Amino acid sequence: MCANTRANKWLFSILFVVFSAVSFAKPLVIAHRGASGYLPEHTLEAAALAYMQSADYIEQDLVVSKDGHLVVLHDIYLDSTTNVADIFPKRHRKDGRFYAVDFTLQELKSLNVHERRNKDGRNVFPNRYRGQAHYTLSTFDEQFELINELNRQFNRHVGWYIEIKAPEWHKQEGHDIAQLLVTSLKQKSLNKMDANVYVQCFDWAHTKRLRNELGLNTKLVQLIAENSWQESTTDYEFLKTEDGVKAVAKVANGIGPWIPQLVNLSDDKPTSTGYRELAAKYGLAVHPFTFRKDQLPKGVTSDQALDVLFKELQVDGIFTDFTDTVMLYLERNE
Ligand code: CA
Repeated sequence: MCANTRANKWLFSILFVVFSAVSFAKPLVIAHRGASGYLPEHTLEAAALAYMQSADYIEQDLVVSKDGHLVVLHDIYLDSTTNVADIFPKRHRKDGRFYAVDFTLQELKSLNVHERRNKDGRNVFPNRYRGQAHYTLSTFDEQFELINELNRQFNRHVGWYIEIKAPEWHKQEGHDIAQLLVTSLKQKSLNKMDANVYVQCFDWAHTKRLRNELGLNTKLVQLIAENSWQESTTDYEFLKTEDGVKAVAKVANGIGPWIPQLVNLSDDKPTSTGYRELAAKYGLAVHPFTFRKDQLPKGVTSDQALDVLFKELQVDGIFTDFTDTVMLYLERNE
């Protein structure tokens, strides 16, 4: 090997080390509804697969059953992910929807969970799980037990990233989901800042209430929607301003924005909207949703999308349906 080549190799390895060292800190990989890219979302099977794909946190969206149990389900409705219309055809409300809160846990457990479907019955993500096996809804207690038992046996510290869905609506239905969660976390000795728990909420009034009134002591994340989604009565435009971010930083540890709130995707080259930097200025972690390798902008590869999120924006974590894809990317970019 000539001296010149050796020098080049040496220089390259130094540059590589320097670049790697300054590229980005190890972000959290949050398995969005478990390994939902491969198995029906929020089932115990999807949580177990996400665990084995080395997620740092596994997400649980929570709703309440008629008899007051915390059930892991993304929608307040059962229509899109279960066979409720076949099993209980008359149990819908006037709007034609089947609400989880109208069913006891025993009834919910009799349902089959399938891939998320559109109103016309087709799978939302056509290349994901296509089988007919019987999957069931899971409770928060079961997902706690599963991850806790796997942690014990594998000597790992995978965490729970828990969202309370529609807390104001649940209150009107007679269930205080925020209170139920705090009680449950206390029973599990998880209501502390150093527990492997994040609690997330779209409703700003309830985020404040969790911290200031209900005594939630875990890490807390304010989710950021768009006002047009009608996710809650929260004014998300305010939460995007500096005063809004300052207010969030008084009660929460991070924000969970939608990726397009962080990146101007319409430009030729993706650029930051400045929201990530604003959050960082007030000490808030930024965990955007959702990286899906089967729903990337046209002509964009997984690596290109993850480069933008991790190297340019330097987000602190990411929600993904594809934990394995993100972990492989992070290994290559260590
Ligand atoms: Ca969620």
